[in-house]
Amino acid sequence: MATRLLRVKQVASTALRSRRPLCNARPHTAIRILNWELPLCARCCGVVGGSITAATLTPVLAGTWQPPLSLVAVACFACASDGIISYRRPEATNNFVRFVTGYALGSSLTLWIG
Ligand SMILES: [Zn+2]
Repeated sequence: MATRLLRVKQVASTALRSRRPLCNARPHTAIRILNWELPLCARCCGVVGGSITAATLTPVLAGTWQPPLSLVAVACFACASDGIISYRRPEATNNFVRFVTGYALGSSLTLWIG
């Protein structure tokens, strides 16, 4: 058990030092702020950021507004489409589009659930 835990720590440490996003390991999708890289890609940062923003707004809205399912479906389709495009032709999209589509998905889905 201790050996297995040590191995997990080594793998995590290597992944963090590799300067690649933990989710997809594609360095060109990482967001850099000054000289520091975020541990997730632009799309995942958008999903997490949108979810945190929506979770913060949920008590304020207090059930007065919920996005329609069609809006959530559009955000999901946009994020999935950009992901497929990015997988097939990485140069066809950029980190801004990845972040925006991820943010739309994370925020709309969290508001819809919440
Ligand atoms: Zn990611």
